[in-house]
Amino acid sequence: MSLRLTNTLTGRIENFTPLSPNEVTIYCCGVTVYDLCHLGHARSYISWDVLHRYLIWQGNKVTFIQNFTDIDDKILNRAYKENCAMSEVSERNIAEFHSDMNALGILPPTRMPRATKCLHEIVSMISELEKKGAAYSIEGDVYFSVMKHRNYGKLSGRKLSEQQHNVEGRVTKKEEARKQNPFDFALWKGAKDGEPSFNSPWGHGRPGWHIECSAMVLKELGETIDIHLGGSDLIFPHHENEIAQSEVATGKKLAQFWLHNGMVNVEGQKMSKSLGNFTTIRALLEKGVSAMALRLFVLQAHYRKPLDFTEESLGAASSGWKRLNTALNLGFVYSKTLDWPNLNSSTQNVLNQKESTTGDSFSEIRQRFIDVLNDDLNTSAALAILFEIARPLKSLTNKLEQGEFKPIQGIENTNMHKRWETLVELASVLGLKAEKDAKELIRSTNDIDQTLISEAIEKRRQAKMTKDFTKADQIRQELKKQGIELIDKPGGVTDWIKS
Ligand SMILES: [Zn+2]
Repeated sequence: MSLRLTNTLTGRIENFTPLSPNEVTIYCCGVTVYDLCHLGHARSYISWDVLHRYLIWQGNKVTFIQNFTDIDDKILNRAYKENCAMSEVSERNIAEFHSDMNALGILPPTRMPRATKCLHEIVSMISELEKKGAAYSIEGDVYFSVMKHRNYGKLSGRKLSEQQHNVEGRVTKKEEARKQNPFDFALWKGAKDGEPSFNSPWGHGRPGWHIECSAMVLKELGETIDIHLGGSDLIFPHHENEIAQSEVATGKKLAQFWLHNGMVNVEGQKMSKSLGNFTTIRALLEKGVSAMALRLFVLQAHYRKPLDFTEESLGAASSGWKRLNTALNLGFVYSKTLDWPNLNSSTQNVLNQKESTTGDSFSEIRQRFIDVLNDDLNTSAALAILFEIARPLKSLTNKLEQGEFKPIQGIENTNMHKRWETLVELASVLGLKAEKDAKELIRSTNDIDQTLISEAIEKRRQAKMTKDFTKADQIRQELKKQGIELIDKPGGVTDWIKS
């Protein structure tokens, strides 16, 4: 089975074949750089990062272009509030963007063009549209005439005649009077006093929002690309307008596939600044949420579906990640430090146990992993496969957590080692990698003060005897914060494990 993706353009799941064999061209709509990235961005870029990684892993050469919108009303408003230049706001937020994406382990795009650096291409595309009679200028503003695109509305499924009614009221009277059709949109905006502006055949001004993506696609990737990516909130009007501009200007189809990710809800509500449930990536990471746990959380849902963010679901993803992370760290411990859990004979047996299939024992599971990702990037099924691979490593990770290490010869020839290698490879396709370095893991295990834990367990036992369950629970919670999980056993004995 080859890769199948849901194409918003047709509303169907279709076989994906790049225009040039094994070479994939992708354009992804980037951020407007006026503020820090939020959870919606994390969701979007983590999802597309898996597509990017998967295509590379499957042997394709991927050219991935993602833009920065660095001229926009939002950036200008922010600069005005902060009493600084627009470029200061955008430079700062571009640096913050890179830092957040780096923390989330997103593969850097091939190139990241900026609107202010593509003015030549933007102006020449507008001129081309004007030449073709699809653009008209009024007092320094230039508009695209939607009636000039035969299929306007083909992506969003909206019809111009049906939309007439809705659009009124959103447009200022002055703008409305100028436009030939209420859906016509600005390609170029005449300069306003005190705003940065650039020279053009229509006088000083700046580009409208939609045109930059069309101009960048053409400049960076050519007339027709394989995949265009973005959030589902961009389908209309942004992507619809991109299609109209590009296809009228070049006479060619803009993109073979349009992929859109679903939105993020917080505790069942749409995430928005006005609702006060707005979470930035930075705030989450500073709170101590692991970037990899966030990744795992995002990938548990299908990219097209809405993602419901709750403290509880993030907590569950964090526990899942902890288990996977320990397994991913395993091989680094023995290969890097040449220290190995103090193996008894039963562990030796585990190491040499027969896998379910013979020969390349992991080819079957690897194929299943490929199959689920080929099925419109079913990342949640792919995650389940990672946990399935990690499960038999548990007996070794237990040893690791006990902190007893001894060198072992010939470890790389064991099935367990091959299992670990498979786990690391497939996890990296989802962008998941061991988060702690092995030495740190060993140190943190050795750092546990066993006497303090025993004392706490004793205090809790006494509290329970006097029926002070609040106190008993407090002690349990305190230990939990330090990563110690208590296990009550029959006969009043309490054991503990490092969670
Ligand atoms: Zn765009």
